[in-house]
Amino acid sequence: LTTIEVRALSGVCRVHVGERLARLASLVPAGLTVYVTDAHVARLYGASFGPGRTIVLEPGEASKSLAGLERVYDGLLDAGADRDTFVVAVGGGVVCDVAGFAASTYLRGLPFGFVPTTLLAQVDAGIGGKNGIDFRGVKNLVGVFQQPRFVLCDPAVLGTLPAGETANGLAEMVKTAAIGSPALFDEIERAPEKALGLDPDLIGRAVVESLRIKAAVVEADEREAGARRVLNLGHTLGHAVESVAGVAHGEAVGAGLVFAARLSVRRGLLPAGDAERITTLVRRLGLPAEVGVPAPARPALVDAVRRDKKRVGDAVRFVFLEAIGRPLVREIPLAELESAIHDLC
Ligand code: ADP
Ligand code: ZN
Repeated sequence: LTTIEVRALSGVCRVHVGERLARLASLVPAGLTVYVTDAHVARLYGASFGPGRTIVLEPGEASKSLAGLERVYDGLLDAGADRDTFVVAVGGGVVCDVAGFAASTYLRGLPFGFVPTTLLAQVDAGIGGKNGIDFRGVKNLVGVFQQPRFVLCDPAVLGTLPAGETANGLAEMVKTAAIGSPALFDEIERAPEKALGLDPDLIGRAVVESLRIKAAVVEADEREAGARRVLNLGHTLGHAVESVAGVAHGEAVGAGLVFAARLSVRRGLLPAGDAERITTLVRRLGLPAEVGVPAPARPALVDAVRRDKKRVGDAVRFVFLEAIGRPLVREIPLAELESAIHDLC
């Protein structure tokens, strides 16, 4: 068991890695508890939730919406939630995002905790304190910064993940490694099949290492005024591809990482060999290194990049790489990004 503390302006969060879901009750304060989950997770793990009310969302990204949010507010209203009610999200990134946003805004803020049940949510979405929903096709357009009181990561629940979900989480792990840990990158590169097979030793170490890196970045800059921007590596194109092509987040991030690496090479920042390593690793994890966006869909892709939150006037803050483990944030004119999308996608 490893506990990592995230000390941020909006609160202190304790992340318990390697803890069992069965120990959840010991983390939840006395009083009314409202669980928020989705139908798949409820069926698999609902019995371990402990006493309280449970709000069940439809599985999938469609719940990360005003409709999903309303469902949680309705459930809190029905449950007679007051300021002392504690909200626990048990599920993937979607559930954590919606429940965290709902809890942070209901009655101007209820305390909440997360039990992320996907690899993606354990290494990324569950920590950092960004909770939000998509709106009009733009990912995470509406949201808050608010730390959960705790995050409980139980490796055992990853055993029931559907095929594809593991690679989805590994994409985010490779991103984190590319930002801050050449050693973690090497380790996944040495045995991608072990990572895909959720080898307990490898995954245990890799989750802790990913969380340490993310926690340090979040502590330094919770509200993304500077340093935190590096966490967007692979996400400028990634988010656009995700909303335009409708692929899974991890697939979009995989392709986004390769794009960022190639663009870094093009700008003379990154040795071509490092971009090759990233491309090869993304492929060996079963993720697409390129997304075939058909020519007619390109304008929509560029449009989606333009709506990106990282945009500053006619430029976008883009995360480049100088080496594996060394990110660099620079503005790139939209026009250059657009031509890169044409050439590299
Ligand atoms: P992400 O964390 O990838 O953003 P979602 O919240 O959309 O993911 O969850 C992805 C899918 O996996 C959903 O259908 C969800 O119900 C399902 N799921 C989440 N956790 C588990 C688990 N531990 N075992 C099986 N299915 C799960
Ligand atoms: Zn992501």
